[in-house]
Amino acid sequence: MLAIRVHEFGGPEVMRLEEVPEPTPGPGQIALSVKAAGVNPVDTYLRAGTHYRPELPFTPGRDAAGIVAAIGAGISNFKPGDRVYISGSVSGAYAEAALCNEADAHPLPNGVSFEQGAALGVPYATAHRALFGKARAVRGETVLVHGASGGVGIAAVQLALAAGLKVLGTAGSPRGRELLARQGAVQIFDHRQSGYAQRILEATGGRGVDVILEMLANVNLATDLSLAAKFGRVVVIGSRGVTQVDPRDAMTKDISVMGMVVMNTPAEELRRIHEELQAGLLKGTLRPVISRSLPLREAAEAHRAVMAPGAAGKIVLIPG
Ligand code: NAP
Repeated sequence: MLAIRVHEFGGPEVMRLEEVPEPTPGPGQIALSVKAAGVNPVDTYLRAGTHYRPELPFTPGRDAAGIVAAIGAGISNFKPGDRVYISGSVSGAYAEAALCNEADAHPLPNGVSFEQGAALGVPYATAHRALFGKARAVRGETVLVHGASGGVGIAAVQLALAAGLKVLGTAGSPRGRELLARQGAVQIFDHRQSGYAQRILEATGGRGVDVILEMLANVNLATDLSLAAKFGRVVVIGSRGVTQVDPRDAMTKDISVMGMVVMNTPAEELRRIHEELQAGLLKGTLRPVISRSLPLREAAEAHRAVMAPGAAGKIVLIPG
């Protein structure tokens, strides 16, 4: 079968499409025939070897959707032919087939495409944990999704709307803002326009927002402290550098600033998150948006695109 392989850390061009042996599931594992693989920013950090350095060579990718091809010993919840999405892979998702542990496989409801299934694992679980597990957002509160046009942002907007929160979202391109406008009752701002933070504050009548989900904390954390209401919660989901803040801004309003990575989610919480995601998919409140589907051989272009400005949903790779 064909898979993307990384033999050395570096730029997108280090990813090569190669022939590799078909994976065989061990005990407690599932082999998936991959129909679509999700491209997440973390895949680019792993390829570059900047923050984390997996053992070389490896196949990138945690998220995918497809059909169960084979099951290992001890698997009782899945059988060959089942439609599933996966939120973690033992062998790597950028491939025609991928292995995962049973806990990382979840039924993919009919009516949800494989491309949409590949957009669920990291983005929706991250958004869910940030909003509910960390910020403890409740109905009627106000949430600012600071960077709402990308994979995690759209997921957060949909989860927040479904939970009865008032949603404000930012996007840096017309396409991203049009996408947000299609999500429903979202107040939309352009994070590249000067004075947008003041307009966010005005939209809350000067009170500020209860919860902020932050996709680029190195740029926005100081602004977030000025935008948060008294007892506000800021969850740092993404950050690509250092920044300076005045801690007094957090102190005077009793603001909590929390960091998180989805890989730290306790197993039981992750199980519940995926149950709730499936319920939302069945109800139609959650509907992943695909911005680009690229053939597997164009993984390098997908990595360039996911790091470029102008997000409008999720980028996925299609094998075959
Ligand atoms: P993505 O699909 O590439 O989207 C990136 C988002 O960041 C877009 O909405 C983009 O908006 C926005 N952005 C760019 N400049 C911004 C600015 N100045 N202010 C606010 N937002 C800005 O990536 P993603 O999958 O949504 O992930 C978002 C970030 O979270 C990444 O840094 C990623 O590494 C991180 N992340 C962390 C976790 C975790 O567990 N902590 C999990 C998943 C992702 P425009 O393109 O419209 O400008």
